[in-house]
This record gives sequence, C-alpha cells and structure tokens, in this order.
Amino acid sequence: MMVLEIDSVSHAYLGRRKPKWVLKKASHTFEAGTFTSILGPSGSGKTTLLSLASGLDTPTEGAIRYRGQDLRDMGLSRYRRRHAATIFQSYNLLTYLTGIQNVRAAMEITGIRGGRTRALEWLERVGIPADEARRNVLQLSGGQQQRVAIARALACDVDILLADEPTGNLDTGTAGQIIEIFRELAHQRGTCVIVVTHSHHLAKQSDQILTLAKGRIA
Ligand code: ADP
Ligand code: MG
Repeated sequence: MMVLEIDSVSHAYLGRRKPKWVLKKASHTFEAGTFTSILGPSGSGKTTLLSLASGLDTPTEGAIRYRGQDLRDMGLSRYRRRHAATIFQSYNLLTYLTGIQNVRAAMEITGIRGGRTRALEWLERVGIPADEARRNVLQLSGGQQQRVAIARALACDVDILLADEPTGNLDTGTAGQIIEIFRELAHQRGTCVIVVTHSHHLAKQSDQILTLAKGRIA
C-alpha cells in the first residue's frame, strides 16, 4: 500500500545571487512494509529530500502526499506528530534530559502509552541498558546518543520512519543491530522505512535501493 508520495518535487535554496536547485522533479512512491535506502554522494540532496519527506520544510515545487493527502493540507506538524518519525544525522536529543526522558517525551507528543517500561524496552533493544538510559544524554558517547535517537523514533510507532545516515557514528556490530531492527519494523510491523546513506553495505540490506543524482531519484 502506498503511504508516501514524492511527486515531481523540486527544491531550491536561495543564494545571494541566484537560487540553487538541489532537487529537480524528483518523484517516487514509497510503500508500507518496505525498507528503502537512498544512496547518493555528499551534497546530492539526501538531507534535503529527507527534511521534505519529514515535513520539516515544504518543497519549492511539486507535492509530498501522505496516503494521498498533501502534507500542506494536512499540516506539517500534525504529519510529524502522528505519522512520521525522523532520526537526524545530528541526533537532536533534548540535552537536559536522560535517555528515558527523551524517549518518553516523544511518546507523549505522539500520544503513545506505555511509559517508562516501554521506553526502557526500546532503549534496551537498541543496546542502551537501564543504567545508561538513566544518564543525561550528554554523558553518553556519540554512538550511544544515536541509539537513544533511534529508540525515540521507534517508540513513536508511526507508519513512516525516516533516517539520515543513522549508522554513520556506530561501530559495525551496533550498525548491524540497527539495520536488523529497521528490517523487522518494515517486515513485521509494516512500517515504511526510508534511510538515506552513503553506505553501500547498509543499502545492500534494504529491500530497495534508490539513488539520488542530478536532483532526481533513480
Ligand atoms: P547531502 O545530505 O546529500 O549531503 P544536502 O541535502 O545536505 O546533501 O545538500 C545538498 C546541497 O544543498 C549542497 O550543495 C548544500 O550545500 C546545499 N544546501 C543544503 N542546505 C542548505 C541551506 N540551508 N542553504 C543553502 N544551501 C544548502
Ligand atoms: Mg546529508
């Protein structure tokens, strides 16, 4: 079933002299239950595409639709709250909180019940044991912070999961576990998982590999 549609999306950043077009009529339809990776060199527009698909920004031209509805009509914040969770390259954790509190805050915003126990379960699943989950996130390593960010997204139980180079700061073992979780989410919960990466190793483990080149999705 089609959940997310990128329809002829072009996006420009306004420069001092002329706009810089990063995406040029990019189109693709993403299905439920599929783990897709999007490969592309640095600067090819991966993060831009992901922020548009996350509802953090609106495309200069074209449309992004969730189950047929334009995100602009639905409201970007509503889309982010109810339907899409994003794992950012730079974690974006609430730095004055612990791991558990970060996960619980996201669950509350999304209206997910389960509280502390559920939060701890998700953290444990990505390799953060209870004693680390209780520490302020700034006392964790980069890789551990990324795992908290992943747990936070997973706990929201939404049908689209978007991730920007999620395993970039992780060791091979942890990266493998995270990819396995993405596969399970797609295949068992039916989540539409979209990961942008420049790792061919990660991409090979997804169901579908797309590439971003010259502003288009191929
Ligand atoms: P990737 O994630 O594939 O490395 P990005 O989407 O971050 O690519 O960036 C694509 C291009 O857009 C790059 O040339 C980058 O410099 C430019 N860019 C990204 N964000 C901005 C911005 N806020 N303002 C101006 N240019 C930007
Ligand atoms: Mg990027």
